[in-house]
Amino acid sequence: MSLTRPKTPWAESPWVSGAPSPYYTKQSHIALREYVREWTEKHIPSELAIDFDKKGIATDQLYQQFAKDGFLIPFALGVTIPKKFHDLSGNLRLPGGVKAEEWDHFHDLILVDELCRTGSNAPMMANYGGLAYGAGPIVHFASDEMQKRYLPDLLTGRKRICLAITEPRAGSDVAGLGTTAERTPDGKHFIVNGEKKWITNGIYSDYFTTAVRTSGKPGDYSGITFLVIPKSEGLKTKKMEIMGGSASGTTYVTFEDVKVPVENVIGKEGEAFKYIMYNFMHERMTIVYIANRLCRVCLEDVVEHCKRRKAFGKPLMEQAVVRHKIAQMARKTEALTAWMEATVYQMSKLSIQEANVKLGGQTALLKAQATATIEYVANEAVKLFGGMGLTKSGAGERVEMIFREFKGLQIPGGSEDVMLDLGTRQALKLFSKL
Ligand SMILES: Cc1cc2nc3c(=O)[nH]c(=O)nc-3n(C[C@H](O)[C@H](O)[C@H](O)COP(=O)(O)OP(=O)(O)OC[C@H]3O[C@@H](n4cnc5c(N)ncnc54)[C@H](O)[C@@H]3O)c2cc1C
Repeated sequence: MSLTRPKTPWAESPWVSGAPSPYYTKQSHIALREYVREWTEKHIPSELAIDFDKKGIATDQLYQQFAKDGFLIPFALGVTIPKKFHDLSGNLRLPGGVKAEEWDHFHDLILVDELCRTGSNAPMMANYGGLAYGAGPIVHFASDEMQKRYLPDLLTGRKRICLAITEPRAGSDVAGLGTTAERTPDGKHFIVNGEKKWITNGIYSDYFTTAVRTSGKPGDYSGITFLVIPKSEGLKTKKMEIMGGSASGTTYVTFEDVKVPVENVIGKEGEAFKYIMYNFMHERMTIVYIANRLCRVCLEDVVEHCKRRKAFGKPLMEQAVVRHKIAQMARKTEALTAWMEATVYQMSKLSIQEANVKLGGQTALLKAQATATIEYVANEAVKLFGGMGLTKSGAGERVEMIFREFKGLQIPGGSEDVMLDLGTRQALKLFSKL
């Protein structure tokens, strides 16, 4: 077993730095980490991430590379890779040669963690965000026939998909959505009208897993239905420029009299609110993994910088105040990693349904912890870099990029304030049941 040794303290989770761990018990955890690390250095070096950030767009070439090397299967399927989906992928190879039956929650964590070592989550999100969240409802709730219709093209990269829930007037309050889907008189189609906003990967997508209202009114939890809507004349996309991570392809989508066959309903009509909540846990954990890695990238760059940079006749690292700041960043990051790994372990021992009940509130609080930690760490990192922390080139460029990107972790998948509230409510509910 071999692991790449970090160059600075805190640049890696303890287990990668050689500390014993009860979690990464399989040889395939190590094999996957090494494979994805090499793959990332080859196909998405930090320079490419910075280039994507400047241009605000990712390349299709990179998506096809992800497809060729088997990444789309775990992207779409998440934490378990049942055999039936492998048969639909036409490619039995997973990254790092991990066997399908061996793939677990820690492989999922390692995959996301290593892909974000560039110091940006945009190259990953530009390729992962749409598929992971858009295919999720098909994987978990669609009929076998529907899975056979969509998954072969999605798992092999021939087609792309995204998740379209949020609207200009309905974000945190999902039940407030008002995009309508009305049946045609012959009952064979829906006619969809409405707008969706901030849709990750929308500009890259061929299909839109869209939450529409088939009955009821905005504010009702029932009456929301998931439809897979193919790109067509009445479905228009417009790229939105955001403060960081633009290459993830944040998109404004409009539907004008878009005709969709009733066969494109995922699961049961009117029940999508339940499906939306079911998928949130994996999305939130992915955000935790990304935030944790970005904290470590900040620490890596800051430690190097403070050893090198001199002020008042000595390296910054020789100032007690500087060491104190780094200690604060490090202790918060280590605490985040520890809680994250403990939660992943707990999830790995429960079914998704059980985990949603028992760990739903905990993952909400963990997401809030992760985004509060990256906010603190990125802010301190920019200060320690001085002017270089604001400069889009040179030693501080990754820190500058992370400072703009972390807000893109704090708001999607449940805004930080909403997570704190949800975490408390869920804990009280669970406790009263116990
Ligand atoms: C980069 C990015 C990518 C995204 N990707 C997708 C995607 O792929 N698909 C998709 O459907 N959506 C996506 N979203 C939308 C995202 O899910 C919403 O932005 C998010 O749910 C918050 O909704 P909102 O922006 O409407 O804010 P609002 O709901 O208006 O909330 C604004 C603020 O009000 C406060 N607040 C609101 N409600 C409460 C409450 N109950 N308790 C305490 N405070 C509260 C919070 O501070 C919150 O941040 C994305 C957003 C961003 C920024």
